[in-house]
Amino acid sequence: MKAIRRFTVRTVLPEELSQLGRLAANLRWAWHAPTREVFAAIDPEVWEAVEHDPLRLLGEVTSERLTELAADDGFRARLDEVAADLDAYLTEPRWYQNETGDGAPPPSAIAYFSAEYGLTAALPQYSGGLGILAGDHLKSASDLGVPVIGVGLLYRHGYFSQKLSPEGWQLEDYPEIDPRGLPMTQLQGADGEPVRISVGLPGGRALVAHVWVIKVGRVPLLLLDACQEMNDPELRSVTDRLYGGGTEHRLRQELLLGVGGVRAVRAYCELTGHPVPEVFHMNEGHAGFLGLERVREYVAADGLTFEQALEATRTGTVFTTHTPVPAGIDRFPRDLVERHFSGDNAIDGLPVERIMALGAESYEGGDPGVFNMAVMGMRLAQRVNGVSLLHGEVSRRMFQGLWPGFDTAEVPITSITNGVHARTWVAEEAQELAARIVDDSDEFTRVEGWRKVVGASERELWEMRRTLRERLVVDARRRLRRSWRQRGASEAELGWIDDVLDPNILTIGFARRVPSYKRLTLMLRDRDRLKSLLLHPQRPLQIVIAGKAHPADDGGKRLIQEIVRFADDPEVRHRIVFLPDYDMALARSLVQGSDVWLNNPLRPLEACGTSGMKVALNGGLNLSIRDGWWDEWFDGSNGWAIPTADGVAEPDRRDAIEAAALYDLFEEQVAPLFYDHDEDDLPKRWIEMVKHTLVSLGPKVLATRMVCDYVERLYRPAAESSRRVAADGLAGVRDLAEWKQRVVRSWPGVHIEHVEVAGVEDPPQVGGELKVRATVVLGDLEPADVRVEVALGRLDGAGELVEPSFARLSAAEGKPADSPLVRYSGSIPLDRPGACGYTVRVLPDHPLLAHPAELGLIVVPEPPEGMVAGMPLR
Ligand SMILES: *Cc1c(COP(=O)(O)O)cnc(C)c1O
Repeated sequence: MKAIRRFTVRTVLPEELSQLGRLAANLRWAWHAPTREVFAAIDPEVWEAVEHDPLRLLGEVTSERLTELAADDGFRARLDEVAADLDAYLTEPRWYQNETGDGAPPPSAIAYFSAEYGLTAALPQYSGGLGILAGDHLKSASDLGVPVIGVGLLYRHGYFSQKLSPEGWQLEDYPEIDPRGLPMTQLQGADGEPVRISVGLPGGRALVAHVWVIKVGRVPLLLLDACQEMNDPELRSVTDRLYGGGTEHRLRQELLLGVGGVRAVRAYCELTGHPVPEVFHMNEGHAGFLGLERVREYVAADGLTFEQALEATRTGTVFTTHTPVPAGIDRFPRDLVERHFSGDNAIDGLPVERIMALGAESYEGGDPGVFNMAVMGMRLAQRVNGVSLLHGEVSRRMFQGLWPGFDTAEVPITSITNGVHARTWVAEEAQELAARIVDDSDEFTRVEGWRKVVGASERELWEMRRTLRERLVVDARRRLRRSWRQRGASEAELGWIDDVLDPNILTIGFARRVPSYKRLTLMLRDRDRLKSLLLHPQRPLQIVIAGKAHPADDGGKRLIQEIVRFADDPEVRHRIVFLPDYDMALARSLVQGSDVWLNNPLRPLEACGTSGMKVALNGGLNLSIRDGWWDEWFDGSNGWAIPTADGVAEPDRRDAIEAAALYDLFEEQVAPLFYDHDEDDLPKRWIEMVKHTLVSLGPKVLATRMVCDYVERLYRPAAESSRRVAADGLAGVRDLAEWKQRVVRSWPGVHIEHVEVAGVEDPPQVGGELKVRATVVLGDLEPADVRVEVALGRLDGAGELVEPSFARLSAAEGKPADSPLVRYSGSIPLDRPGACGYTVRVLPDHPLLAHPAELGLIVVPEPPEGMVAGMPLR
């Protein structure tokens, strides 16, 4: 029956209930409990059957029931109330509207591009953390009133849903979605016809797409859909699956996302009057081509050269990298990309060799045969960030080759730690409890609100935890039964499932995608030990596991099979379960119901991780390797850190050491704490840890905190830079591009002739200062083109400066007319005792640079034979 095409007939609502259509059409229901309650009240049974999807509910509910509700004053009153609440939410000034910053207006709008979005389980357009993060970014932007326009692709088959074979092997299913049955509308032109976005391909072909608009609260999300009659069957399938197909398929997807996405934004703003974005945010390399399209626009519309257009694009572009694993980076064969930007598909003003240079791995260890999307993103964006402090550090090391000559600490990649959207992930009971403690639920999003959690009643908190755990147990049994039926078991064989898991037992959750670095099976290292923990007579634990392996990853599927086989064993199957089809719905259930969230990646391969944040907000505790966000915010008493065997090179031994540490933690710390109840039958010390988790992590892990950080640290500065270069008919762009070319050309002529200490107390002491003089050869450059700095720091064993401080030296007199030599002098405070060293360096300087290392140019003194560049200070 493969030939059957889906379509959805929308119901006609009685006039009195017309607001229901409007409420269903805005995804805010996904995080607004009162709206969901109104839908649930329409027909609680159907509501369960359609998995809490308002549009499907409206499609299934009988017209008799609707007529009945139309006459129900109580229902209509509640409906009017949530409809009015939505209106207020959509129009009232929010954080962003009250945010004045330093006086300059914030960005008019920000276009946010991502290959995937996790917004609700009803829209399977995500595979894992990257998509969930993008979804939480949009929702939080909406809550804060940040004018973001999301851009992505509509995958007709989404990401797969997972089932198990009788042997425990992962099976994939790609159900087709029908956009008309989903909360989205087609973007139409003034003529009422669907807007068509077209992207050129080699051979004179064009890839055409329609645009669907999803309302994510205040934020529009534009999804490009190539499944259109105008495309030949091959091109129609470009947006069939998320991360499916071969290399060329993926390249076409990314061209549509980047190039087509910018065109979709233009069309949307023109048709709706939405402010035109000043900032473009690439969420990972998949979106990199958006920068090329913007370069093209500047060349075509403003008559800029390629270099000038590049500067104009860079100032307003932000790039976020999400992977600490080189293998996780999106790369294409060079000639494939070349083919797409040359010949009959060449772009006027964008010479193909310039495009190729943007993605070239032109650094030590780089592969000349590939086009690297992350590297291109970094060259097209003036501001770049990783997604946790540790990941920022790892990224600076990983991409250091792009800024040769700079210490890793100075590589211009900053970090903004991810966060999660509380109203999506936090159980309603926990939200209510919070709202009661702090009187005002909005207050809960602010730091002061969280401190009051300390005053929550222990009993209330504990009862809430039990409610959530019990709900997980019930949900797990339901899912397990469904899975066993799919695996071929008969109902009669499944009586045991009624006794699977126990709402009073310490519950460990473990759910994630299954790449090898996440080590799904680490817990199976010592099976006997795990069994004894599960079956402990007084202090047992139970484990709920979920996760999908990439369809092409047989290694991952084998790991799942190992877990499933272990969990199938009648001896332990009541204490450990694998639940298929990890998606947002299952994730909610797990992060809310787990007492402890286990995460054991190979450090530092987890860029950030966000599932543990969701757990913390629900009053669960984290037990994790110190990686990603946990490395940053574990404070010794808000959960547990699994000691890592970082220095151990041999993977097998490392796994053995870390697994043993894991069992020890459960046996010696976690279980005793959980089961240690006082005379009131409350685990006081456990509850204390929960409270401390909420107070210490609550305000940090919120995606609203993250989006505020993006606004203040990246979006606002990017908008200001782009305004400055755009002023006076793009005069700044021309100036900056000319300056950069001149500096790059003249740089080989710059060197430091002489450096000397001009004065320091003897012996040097803390509180004093070091006076330095330097003579610098500037060649063709002027003093205004450079900054000359003294760096002072402690010396490490290799004679390198450790965390140096810097002070700028000033040119004594201008550049003499008859000499290339300029004398500099200045001083730097001696602020730390011990063996120190100093050096002088020259960097390019321009008011429109976001970072001194931006050009990757630096000059340090020629070290004398056998000496490093740092000079010991005595
Ligand atoms: C939160 C979430 C993720 C990301 O979690 P990690 O901690 O990065 O593993 C992945 N998938 C789903 C369904 C989620 O809800």
